[in-house]
Amino acid sequence: MSANSSHKVESWLVSAGRDRTPGSPLNVPPWPASNFVLGDRRAYSRDDGTPGWDALEDLIGGLEGGLAVSFASGMAAIAAIFDRVPAGSRIALPDDCYQGVSALAAAGESRGRWTVRRIAVSDTPAWVDACAGADLIWLESPSNPLLAVADLDIICRAPRKPGAILGVDNTFATPLNQRPLDLGADFAVQSATKFIGGHSDLLCGVVTARDPAMRDALRHTRELTGATPGTLEVFLAVRGARTLALRLERAQANAAILAERLEQHPKVTVTRYPGLGSHPTHEAARRQLKGFGTIVSFDVAGGATHADAVCANVRLIQHATSLGAVESTIERRAGIPGQEHLPRSLLRLSTGIEDVEDLWRDLDQALLLHANPQ
Ligand SMILES: *Cc1c(COP(=O)(O)O)cnc(C)c1O
Repeated sequence: MSANSSHKVESWLVSAGRDRTPGSPLNVPPWPASNFVLGDRRAYSRDDGTPGWDALEDLIGGLEGGLAVSFASGMAAIAAIFDRVPAGSRIALPDDCYQGVSALAAAGESRGRWTVRRIAVSDTPAWVDACAGADLIWLESPSNPLLAVADLDIICRAPRKPGAILGVDNTFATPLNQRPLDLGADFAVQSATKFIGGHSDLLCGVVTARDPAMRDALRHTRELTGATPGTLEVFLAVRGARTLALRLERAQANAAILAERLEQHPKVTVTRYPGLGSHPTHEAARRQLKGFGTIVSFDVAGGATHADAVCANVRLIQHATSLGAVESTIERRAGIPGQEHLPRSLLRLSTGIEDVEDLWRDLDQALLLHANPQ
């Protein structure tokens, strides 16, 4: 199963992970198998995978430019990387990152497993300093939900303590907008639940490693912990990934238009989108990202009550968590446990592929409705 690596990413997404043997189905079908007849390379799927896992791993590995290992979820993938560090390690973590990763780091710290230093995403000198002393440097860029862009080009190339590992959560950018392994990261992670799957119907995660030994170590961790991806989930993730380039292009164009208009809206006080000139890390985003992504976060005048009313009043956009799907979703993030440090009225909008004028009318009426309750 391989596609021509000289092809552009759009072609890779469509052609990767297929079995081109005459008589084979064009799509690798779901493989519901725990065990295989002994005597060949596969005996048991937790250890040896299935052709379905192989298809997804070929596809994502090619996108990120490394060797991929699939997991039950994004968090399972990230936990497998955190599991690499020895007891007593030092971990450098962004001040703004996915709340599940903050919770994972805090849980390990409270058990004496490691210590955690939080660093502002945009504080490049502090990250360079952390590279010299930490055992795991964990980055997320753009960050969730403040959309801060880290200077990956500098941080990933900074001298590291021997044996230290550096991983980047690449979920928000997707490998189409940024490839951390090319810059020197050891691992790039996708929560395939989001853009790869793209339809809010699965949980899956993928780590891509640069080094074959690290890939093998992650497979071993998956074997030991049993954090294996589901049969239907890998099938749906590959199916979703076929249209990733088209979905991303459309959703990103929508997000750019909505961000510009939100910034001018009388009921919006702050709009964060890496593509806006006003965004604090816009310069880093321009240097580093091929596209500015599909997520916009904005604060509404009138605090949490007004923000909740916006969520209650949208008619086309879904009031739901998660992101990266065909449908637009909106959520007030400070309402979530562990996210109380965020601005109270911050709404995170994941822009989908709907008609942009329909999306704008929906947002505009929801923002104004509360202001004029009659
Ligand atoms: C959703 C998400 C995760 C966790 O992925 P799951 O598949 O939900 O476990 C990690 N990082 C980021 C940036 C995410 O958005």
